[in-house]
This record gives sequence, structure tokens and C-alpha cells, in this order.
Amino acid sequence: MEPSLLYGQRIDNLIRHPDFSAYLRKNKYFEPLEIPSPVSERRLLEIRLMPYGDRQLLLIARDITRIHQLESMRKDFVANVSHELKTPLTVLQGYLEIMQSMEDENSPNQKPLNLMQQQTRRMQSMVEQLLALSRIEAGANVDLSKTIDMHNMFSQLKVEAYALAAEQYTLEFFCESELNTHGDELQLRSACSNLISNAIRYTSPGGKVTIKWQNVASGAKFSVTDTGVGIAPQHINRLTERFYRVDNARSSKTGGSGLGLAIVKHALSHHHSELTVVSELGKGSTFSFIIPTHLLERKI
Ligand code: ADP
Repeated sequence: MEPSLLYGQRIDNLIRHPDFSAYLRKNKYFEPLEIPSPVSERRLLEIRLMPYGDRQLLLIARDITRIHQLESMRKDFVANVSHELKTPLTVLQGYLEIMQSMEDENSPNQKPLNLMQQQTRRMQSMVEQLLALSRIEAGANVDLSKTIDMHNMFSQLKVEAYALAAEQYTLEFFCESELNTHGDELQLRSACSNLISNAIRYTSPGGKVTIKWQNVASGAKFSVTDTGVGIAPQHINRLTERFYRVDNARSSKTGGSGLGLAIVKHALSHHHSELTVVSELGKGSTFSFIIPTHLLERKI
């Protein structure tokens, strides 16, 4: 269209999309908006609006079709490869177990067989975590209508935590009564249980881990505090990246894959929440998130 014909027209007449109209009305432009291009349904645009001078807005539109395609290729690739690796690893694991049982207890083959089993188990757990991450990433439209009984979830988390702590840690649990949330129970439990297992794995035996679910001004807060190794400030912003580990040697010993916090981040983003990390090297860390008020179900 001729630029002169555009002048004076309403912008939502030119970009006709209900999401765009809602975005304009909302008056909050921190996050960009993604909509199909008005010219072709097959192209995806990222729209950013920002205040420009007095009573004016600057609109920047970017074609992100290619980025989207690449992103979904990456997700499919990771999901397919992880899925395909499951069977060979199960076969390896099975034969290693048989071979080990056939060897004499003092045989020199016991040590390498043990190591091979350990490493296959590590690969299996990585594949499981990659699949879990793919599932969580793929389900962007999570059903938030169901109520999660937090007391029930806490009971399950407790059982897991005590099993992992193997009587070597002090564990403390506090769950506010009658404070439930809407959400996807599997995803939220996976986020909480990853945080608890990290707290135990990165704390030396004899340490303490405190797990709380309580009311705060902007919603309900889940927090896990440990007296563990702590994290230096330069690492904190990168912890939720896939495969990011502060100390590779230590993480391999603890059996980590570097995917746990990436899973947490995605699960939380589906519940309109994000992870906060406060930590001091050598003293311990608190990992927490707040579920906003609009998702909560308070009975008092
Ligand atoms: P991993 O499987 O390696 O534990 P995660 O994604 O769960 O991967 O965590 C990423 C990294 O963050 C870990 O390798 C570890 O260095 C650090 N980390 C996570 N939780 C804690 C914690 N409670 N205390 C200290 N460091 C932690």
C-alpha cells in the first residue's frame, strides 16, 4: 500500500489480529508478541512496541519464521535422538548385567564391567532427562485448570528426599495448610523434586536442607535452602542453560546431567513463574520460585 494511504489509519486496521489488538490495549510491552504475518499466514512476525517520545509508540516487526523453524528442528532432533538411544542403552545395560553375574567375584573384569554399567546408567538418566525436557518444552499450552493438592505433593517429595538423603542429612519441611495451586502436577513436581535433589547432591553429608511452601505478598513461594557448596555469582545467571555445570568434575560424581535446572525453568515458565537463586560460595544456596496469586486456590 502507498505510504500516504497508511497515514492516519488505525494501526489495528492494518495489522488485523485479535492478539495484536489485545496487546495494544494491554499497554504493557515488556514481552514481544508473536503473530502470523498479515501478508502470509506461513510467516511469523515478532512485534515489539516501545514508548517513543511523548504519546508515541515505536513498532518494530521482525520476521522470525526461520528462527522458529530452526528451533523446532532442534527440538525434534533432540527428542528423536533421545528416543532412539533408549533401546540400545537398555540392551547394553542388560548384557553388562549378565556378563557381570557370569564373572567370578575376584575376576579382573569386575572393575571395568562395573564402570561400564555406571556409565551406561548415566547415559540412560541423561536420555530420560532429555526426553523429559523435550516433553515439557513441547507442551507450551499447559492445562492450568486442575488443582494441585500441595500437601499430597509434599508427602511424595518427602519420601523421595528421605530416600536420597539416606539418613545423612537433616531435612526440614514446611507446607502452609490450605494453600493449593492450579497447574500441571507432573511438571511442578518435577521442578520441586529437581531442586530438592540438587540441594542434597550439592551439600556434604551432615548438612541441612529446608523445603518450604508458604504465603507471600505476590503469591505462594516454594523454596529449598541448603547448607551446601554454594555457587559463585558469575555462574548464577547461567545455571538454567542446558548442560551448564559449575564444576564438571563434581557434577559427574554427583551423577548430574546439567539438565535439571533447564527442566525447572521450562516447567516454571508454564506456571507464570521463574527461578530465583541466592547463594554464597561455601555457605549454601536458596533456590525458590513464586506461583502468582491468580493461579492459587486459598481456602482462607
Ligand atoms: P546437574 O545435573 O549437573 O546437577 P542442574 O541443571 O540440576 O544439573 O544444575 C546445574 C548446575 O548448577 C550443577 O551442575 C551445579 O553446579 C549447580 N547447582 C545446582 N543446584 C545447586 C545447589 N543446590 N548448590 C550448589 N550448586 C548447585
